[in-house]
Amino acid sequence: MLLRRRTPNVPPVLEKIDNAIGSNTIVAYKRALELAPHLAAVSIGTTNRGQEAHFRGHVRGLRRSTVALPVRAAYYENFIKDAYTITRMAPFETFYKERGVPVTAGTMADAIVLHELGHADRFAGLVTANYGDSKRAHREGTEAYRQQRATLPTAMGVAEAQAHGLIDKPSDIWLKSAEAYAQLTEEKGADDFALSALATLYNIDSHVTMFPAIAQPNVPRSYPEYARIMGLPPL
Ligand SMILES: [Zn+2]
Repeated sequence: MLLRRRTPNVPPVLEKIDNAIGSNTIVAYKRALELAPHLAAVSIGTTNRGQEAHFRGHVRGLRRSTVALPVRAAYYENFIKDAYTITRMAPFETFYKERGVPVTAGTMADAIVLHELGHADRFAGLVTANYGDSKRAHREGTEAYRQQRATLPTAMGVAEAQAHGLIDKPSDIWLKSAEAYAQLTEEKGADDFALSALATLYNIDSHVTMFPAIAQPNVPRSYPEYARIMGLPPL
């Protein structure tokens, strides 16, 4: 019966987060899946104690990959309290402020969920670019990300970061690293996915089609298509 039909599989963790801090992560998640249906293959769960929100790509592909999210409100509240995370999340703060959307733990949680899904979308793109060889995609992605993080001032240390002109004084290192982190190819890519999805949610400029910016150009637009290419079972 149509009336009894419910929207498919909203991850319980998102409901918990939304209840805890008044975010709209379920709406954000559903929109991400509309824009990039292959993301339905990714499991969404909770982090272990003390862990940050993260995406973990799996050598066997997207269906084994996970996005893990903390449920506790304090984690998301920190994104509007702590100088490092505020600096890291500056692209989202700018986005929200430009549109008159309040910058709260809730709107930051929406951004974080979409950001992690952005990493998943990038991993999907890498698998496709490697003709479905997810093991190779995983290795490539991990290595590229390792190299990117090595360029952060915190990874170099004060002396080297100063020698490279990345920081003026030692006390700059932390916030300069937060800024640089947001600009790493992998992080910025995930941010761009999130910002594009948010832009469609807030329906800012109907003349701008955000959709093409959402997924990597080489990623199929639907899970069935993706599953066929990847030899995965249907959902
Ligand atoms: Zn990230």
